[in-house]
Amino acid sequence: MTTTPARPDPRVTEALAALTLEEKVQLLTGRDFWTTWPIERIGLRRMLVSDGPSGVRGELWDERDPSLNLPSATALAAAWDTDVARRYGAAAAVEARRKDVDVVLGPTINLHRSPLGGRHFEAFSEDPVLTGELAAAYVSGVQDNGVGATPKHYVANDFETDRFTADVRADERTLREVYLLAFEKAVTEARAWVVMSAYNAVNGTTVTENELLETPLNSEWGFDGVVISDWTAVRSLASATASQDLVMPGPDGPWGDALVAAVRDGEVDEAVVDRKVLRLLTLAQRVGALGDSSPAEPVWVEDGIAFAREAAAEGTVLLENRSPDGRPALPWDAAALRSVAVIGNNAAAARTQGGGSATVVPESTVSPLDGLRAALPGVDVGYSVGAVVQSGVVELPLPQLTNPVSGAPGLRARFLAPDGTELFGEDRRSSDLVYFGGDAPIEPAAGYELSTRWTPAESATVRLGFALVGRAQLYVDGELLIDETLTPVGTDLGAAFLSPPNASAEVRLTAGAPLDVRLVLDLGDRAGFNARALSLRLGTEPADDDPDALIAAAAQAAAAADVALVVVGTNSVVESEGYDRDSLALPGRQDDLVRAVVAANPRTVVLVNAGAPVLMPWREDVAALLIGWFGGQEFGNAVADVLLGVAEPGGRLPTTWPATEADVPVLSCTPVDGVVEYAEGVHIGYRAWLRSGAQPAWWFGSGQGYTTFELTAVDAPAEAAPGEVVTVTVEVTNTGERAGKEVVQVYAERPDSVVDRPVRWLVGSAAVRVPAGQTARVDVAVDTRYLAYWAEGWQYEPGAHQLRIGTSAVDLPGGCTLQLLV
Ligand code: BGC
Repeated sequence: MTTTPARPDPRVTEALAALTLEEKVQLLTGRDFWTTWPIERIGLRRMLVSDGPSGVRGELWDERDPSLNLPSATALAAAWDTDVARRYGAAAAVEARRKDVDVVLGPTINLHRSPLGGRHFEAFSEDPVLTGELAAAYVSGVQDNGVGATPKHYVANDFETDRFTADVRADERTLREVYLLAFEKAVTEARAWVVMSAYNAVNGTTVTENELLETPLNSEWGFDGVVISDWTAVRSLASATASQDLVMPGPDGPWGDALVAAVRDGEVDEAVVDRKVLRLLTLAQRVGALGDSSPAEPVWVEDGIAFAREAAAEGTVLLENRSPDGRPALPWDAAALRSVAVIGNNAAAARTQGGGSATVVPESTVSPLDGLRAALPGVDVGYSVGAVVQSGVVELPLPQLTNPVSGAPGLRARFLAPDGTELFGEDRRSSDLVYFGGDAPIEPAAGYELSTRWTPAESATVRLGFALVGRAQLYVDGELLIDETLTPVGTDLGAAFLSPPNASAEVRLTAGAPLDVRLVLDLGDRAGFNARALSLRLGTEPADDDPDALIAAAAQAAAAADVALVVVGTNSVVESEGYDRDSLALPGRQDDLVRAVVAANPRTVVLVNAGAPVLMPWREDVAALLIGWFGGQEFGNAVADVLLGVAEPGGRLPTTWPATEADVPVLSCTPVDGVVEYAEGVHIGYRAWLRSGAQPAWWFGSGQGYTTFELTAVDAPAEAAPGEVVTVTVEVTNTGERAGKEVVQVYAERPDSVVDRPVRWLVGSAAVRVPAGQTARVDVAVDTRYLAYWAEGWQYEPGAHQLRIGTSAVDLPGGCTLQLLV
């Protein structure tokens, strides 16, 4: 299908005509990390772009200007519900408007090709259709509120290792049917205003110079927005003649004067520049940054915190709910509970998001322990850590810190000139700081100092230290504790910036006895690091406790309680940006911990707090198993709601969860000689599992609620024309005693196809909520385009296509046949 872009608004063309070549070219590279250039003369203000996508960080990465921290993208995808995705996008837009952000840099819609992918938590699913439907809903939710959305990273950036240079080799059919599909939906259906080009190369050409930016994005899908580069992804003048529109960040970049000269020399046609500027001005008009245009008033403002809580429960997946004593382990009956043993590092430390550029800084977070204690005021809710899951230093607790200058809770930060005079000083409320844009004079400063008075709550021996890149000294009560130069691990500077290396040393603490702590950084020695950005964390490494003793104490607590909740998982260092995971196993001794607790208390519930699949070798032994993802700032309250039956665990797996690494059909995402071969073609995710015959732990689509359902009476047309969207109607009866949610899934099969098809593939789904004992009729839209395959165009095979209907990729009691009339 070829779509023609709408004609540009005359005000946009007039603004373009008023610009000199130099002004036009300047507009095509950012002004700084997050903004574009303003040109007052034509009424153009700057535009501010900002990461989330699970919330919106805003111009500064700063605890003094907090953001709503929504559940991670995998949690959103697990809700399998386009209404939730639309509201999620709307909530992000409301945050954006509150923070004067014009464009949200999300959603991330790369696919879960391998479960090892480091940014898996930030993307939706292994399935292109589910990803595409949710992406379109998210983009509409954002843009209906006058803010731009940015589906990213176009395209095939489905892993992180060597992401700047890796060359993905994938054939045209694979790209069209799998990796481009969600972008197609976001552009053709939701009319995304911005698309972000990826770092990697595809079939030998780096994306920012790649013809894929023109075809299909512009020439076929009618994209009339801005292709923004991923940060530093534009590395050549050649990308200016590709359909790359905006270079980020700025103000330096490979276009600038070189592009002006190339136009003057006749090497680049000025029309090429004009086309890009026209798109940028169109975006400005859409977001209200040009002339007196103003963005739409927010059409949907709801309580963001309440939504974050609801969305986390909607995405929580219940995978097991056995009856060790004749009744299902969940939900718990609050009235009958006397004691709960809450166990696990992730139970008390709220792991609400993954790491990397997607990070937002919430005002506060609710851990599962906090949530349960609040929900069960009369119940003895005890806590044992059980196993330590911490990578490097974590920040010091704010209530124990006093700013030595202001006397308020917090720290004092100072940027110093070479002679030691203060260039800039500020009061901070966190010892985990990122300077990425903003006013701090990082570049001219020679030194940086962070000081606080720390009054520990408990007596202990701890390892105090820091995480950063470069040379630093740590002083305690004026004595030098550490003097080290930390160099980045690996080659990805982004990863080194957001997950920097650590150093620490032992310090003896006495409860209530304050220590003066001062961290000093040499800004002249940054180990080759970007001169305008700085990240550092002052804090403590995990205590050196005996792991067996921790497990034994947790098991003892579980044995003494009515029920136990073990929260296992990863964190924002294990799952982050710039690197992939090297193992699917739970970090540390968590598997041993679960086994010991389950042995001590048969009514043990395990909650997995991770953004991506982990292995659960004990899964057959636990009474109940929940996947809670990185559940956002309200995670703990949502967990309590689900455990106590106040909310339904509404999620279904958006990605297949393996039993062992050896079974995973597409596992490696490490480039070989710089190349990642997508050799499996269209067979990723459950499609690959079905083809390989291996049995995962849980299939794509799996999950259950607190009631039971029966799917009956399928009503669907017998025939359809190519391109038609047909409706498959299913009756869903709630056969249990409480209201619940079911996700009806429709898959296609074409066993006698002329091409190598997946065994089956998702073509539609719908979430439905049904009161106890009632039947609902659910309409599932099935776009026949999903039945086509790509061979120099979309090809429809005539004749019978089987539609299989059910509740996971393998649980498919219903079905019908659809004849395609080609
Ligand atoms: C990430 C993008 C992000 C950008 C700006 C890059 O490293 O890949 O997703 O939007 O940084 O923070």
